[in-house]
Amino acid sequence: MYYPEKKVKAFVLALTFFVCSAFVFTGGQVSAGQDYYSGKPAKYVFLFIGDGMGIPHRQAPEIFLAAREGKPFGHYRMTMNTFPSQGVTTTYANDRFIIGSAAAATAISTGYTTNIGFIGMDPELRPVKTVAEMARDSGMKVGIVSSVSIDHATPAAFYAHQPHRSMYHEIAHDLANSGFHYFGGGGFRDPEGKKSKSPKGDALAVARNNGYAIVSNRADFMKLTPGEKIIAYNANLPDGKALPYAMDATADDISLAEFTSRGIELLDNPNGFFMMVEGGKIDWASHANDAVATIYNTLAFDDAVKKAVEFAEKNPDETLIVVTGDHECGGLTLGFAGTKYESAYDVLKGQKISFKVFEAMVRDYREQNAGKASFKDFFSLIEQNFGLKMAGDDHMALEDYELKSLKDAFLLSMAGLREKGRGEDYLMYGDYEPLVVKVTHILNQKAGLAWTSYSHTGAPVTTSAMGVGNAMFNGYYHQSELGKKIMSALGFSPDRPFGQSPAGEAGS
Ligand SMILES: [Zn+2]
Repeated sequence: MYYPEKKVKAFVLALTFFVCSAFVFTGGQVSAGQDYYSGKPAKYVFLFIGDGMGIPHRQAPEIFLAAREGKPFGHYRMTMNTFPSQGVTTTYANDRFIIGSAAAATAISTGYTTNIGFIGMDPELRPVKTVAEMARDSGMKVGIVSSVSIDHATPAAFYAHQPHRSMYHEIAHDLANSGFHYFGGGGFRDPEGKKSKSPKGDALAVARNNGYAIVSNRADFMKLTPGEKIIAYNANLPDGKALPYAMDATADDISLAEFTSRGIELLDNPNGFFMMVEGGKIDWASHANDAVATIYNTLAFDDAVKKAVEFAEKNPDETLIVVTGDHECGGLTLGFAGTKYESAYDVLKGQKISFKVFEAMVRDYREQNAGKASFKDFFSLIEQNFGLKMAGDDHMALEDYELKSLKDAFLLSMAGLREKGRGEDYLMYGDYEPLVVKVTHILNQKAGLAWTSYSHTGAPVTTSAMGVGNAMFNGYYHQSELGKKIMSALGFSPDRPFGQSPAGEAGS
């Protein structure tokens, strides 16, 4: 039999890896720092987390750009997809196969697989030190950036330790006391403790007392200089204290890429830095099954990745960039029964606004036209903002069954009465405005894209890495390994071996 040389080499490599792994597993005492990487530690580490960003999410934008510009399928490549190392990362929690952002980000930040909703705590609800805290304690500067609120599950899992992600007030206090150097992006959901069982006072006042300068508009943001500790958020935070969807943003809005590039300028120092950047609304758009908003937010996230790559090009031997998703969202797939083997991503360019802005239009129309709502009248808004047409012979024209389903959804939305979360109705629209979901479903399906859920799925994600120790991110591994790999690139080890009590804690 003939084995190509490449295949033989791969087999020998795999065998070596297997033998080494077996040694590490039975050895038990080897620290994570030595398990994965033993070279000179990275001085600058970027961790990008695309929330809800599965594998289809990372190809759809490339095919969309190619279709929009009339180029071949392989013409565009997002920066994250060009990295030399690409791994497959599984994403389950300790107590549920389909994970949420809190447990996922905790696995990535601490190396611990934990329970749904936990922030920076192990399954026994004991706090575990995060890689960001380790970086801070070693004298590096630390930055945390997110396009959703800065107290949301993903960013919180790097600086907070709370039993539940919904404890926004307590999380804000953990932020104020974190000693991290830069927080950028979205705002705070409950700084004053209005929804807390035991309010601890204004978290922003505590932050100011702890030396943070707080800026909330573009002009002040651009004037910031390195030296002080900073909390910076966008002036316009339209939903859940998050940045607007990338496709709805204006020149006044600070982009995720700008929060990242300013972060680099503010954090750069002789001891190095660790920066986590989250693209949080890739997830939100996917929950809502809006492919176009998902695509534009993924492109905005990739623009932020580019800023880190530009920095890495100037500091190639000292920088590590890791890009991952914390889980897949929406069960996005790049095919649909109705379009068989065809794709027509150019139809997506008809969409001009995110589902969120359209949702407000539907609500306004309902309120202003109580008792006299007309589908024909409303349809002009659908045509203007999504490019769909009632009749015609091009592929933007609605089929009879599509038109009927759109009318049904319109009636349901105009009635404004829905029991959420159950039955066939839920399968059709999730907990969203029926007309909004129906419009994006029709447009997405015409393109040859489809969704299977309004929730996360258990589909693995891609992890990409470039720079110091990047090869350790190849392979197939759980996201908790990702946390350990990043720690080892920095010369750190996990807080303690999994299942052991924190140092100094008696018994158990
Ligand atoms: Zn989600």
